[in-house]
Amino acid sequence: MSARLLEGKPLAESLKSELKNEVDQLKGKYKTNPSLSVIQVGDNPASSVYANQQKKCADSLGIGYNIHRLSIEAKKEELFSLIDGLNKDDLVSGIIIQLPLPSHIDHKELILRISPLKDVEGLHPENLGKLVLGKPSLAPCTALACVELIKSIGVDLYGKEVVIVGHSEIVGKPLALLLLNDFATITVCHIGTSQKGCLNDHTKYADILVVAVGKAGLIKGEHIKEGVIVVDVGINKVGDRIVGDVEFESASNVASYITPVPGGVGPLTVVMLMKNTLTAFKLQRE
Ligand code: NAD
Repeated sequence: MSARLLEGKPLAESLKSELKNEVDQLKGKYKTNPSLSVIQVGDNPASSVYANQQKKCADSLGIGYNIHRLSIEAKKEELFSLIDGLNKDDLVSGIIIQLPLPSHIDHKELILRISPLKDVEGLHPENLGKLVLGKPSLAPCTALACVELIKSIGVDLYGKEVVIVGHSEIVGKPLALLLLNDFATITVCHIGTSQKGCLNDHTKYADILVVAVGKAGLIKGEHIKEGVIVVDVGINKVGDRIVGDVEFESASNVASYITPVPGGVGPLTVVMLMKNTLTAFKLQRE
C-alpha cells in the first residue's frame, strides 16, 4: 500500500474539542445550551444505532439530545404537529428526521415543515438555496464531512478536477456546490454515467474522487489515476464486514490518500451534525 490513510477519527476528536469549548462559551453567554431533537418513526435497527452515536457525541459536548419515537403507523398530521411544537420551542436548536421513514410518510414534506433556522441536516430549500448562492449556512452533514477531510490535507482546490460519483441530495449535489465555492472543477457522475459505460473515463481523470453510491467495490485501482485523493462515503455490509464503494486494496496502491471504511467519513458526519446544531443555536439568537 502506498496511499496514506485519511482517517476521520483524529479529525473528529480535534473538532469535538473545539466544539466543546464553544458550547461552554455559549452556555456562559446565553445561560442555556444548544439542543438537538430527533424524530424517529418505527424502530429500524440501523437508525437506532445512528441515534445512539448522535446521543453519545452530543452528551460528550454538552449538547442536549432528545429523541421522539413514534409508532411506524404514525400519521403525517401527528408528525407535523410534533415538528410545529419543536419549531416553536426556544429550547430546541435543531431538528432532524431519522431515515428510513415508512412509505406513507414523505420525507420532503417533513423537511419543508421544519424551520430553516432549525434544519441542522441542511435539507430545507432555503438552506439549499443559500448553498447555490455560494453563502452556505446550514449544509448537509455528510457533504461537510467530505470537505473537512479533503481540506485537512491542505490541498489547494483551485482548478482541481474533482469527480463525485453519486448525486444524492445529502452527499453528491451539496458537495459539488460546496467545492465550487473553492473554484474546483466538478464532475458529478451517477447511475446514468455507469449505464452509458462512461464512469471510468471520468474517475480516471480525477485529482480528487468522492464516491457515495452504496455498491461495494464499484471503483477499483485500475479505475483511478496515480496520486488521486480518494474519499469513500459508501457503507456496505459484505458478510460480517463493513466496506466502502472503493476496493480498498487495489485503490490504495494507486492513490496518494484514501479514507478507510469504517473510520473515514462516518465519524466526521456526526460531528458536523453537532457543529450545525451550534450554528443553528447562534443563528436563532442573531
Ligand atoms: P442514494 O441511494 O441516495 O444515491 C446513490 C447515488 O448513486 C445516486 O446518485 C445513483 O444514481 C448513484 N448510483 C447508483 N448506482 C450507481 C452505479 N452503478 N454507478 C454510478 N452511480 C451509481 O445514496 P446516499 O444516501 O447518497 O448514500 C450513498 C452511500 O453513502 C450509501 O452506501 C450510504 O450508506 C453511504 N452514506 C454514508 C454516510 C457516512 O456518514 N459515511 C452518510 C450518508 C450516506
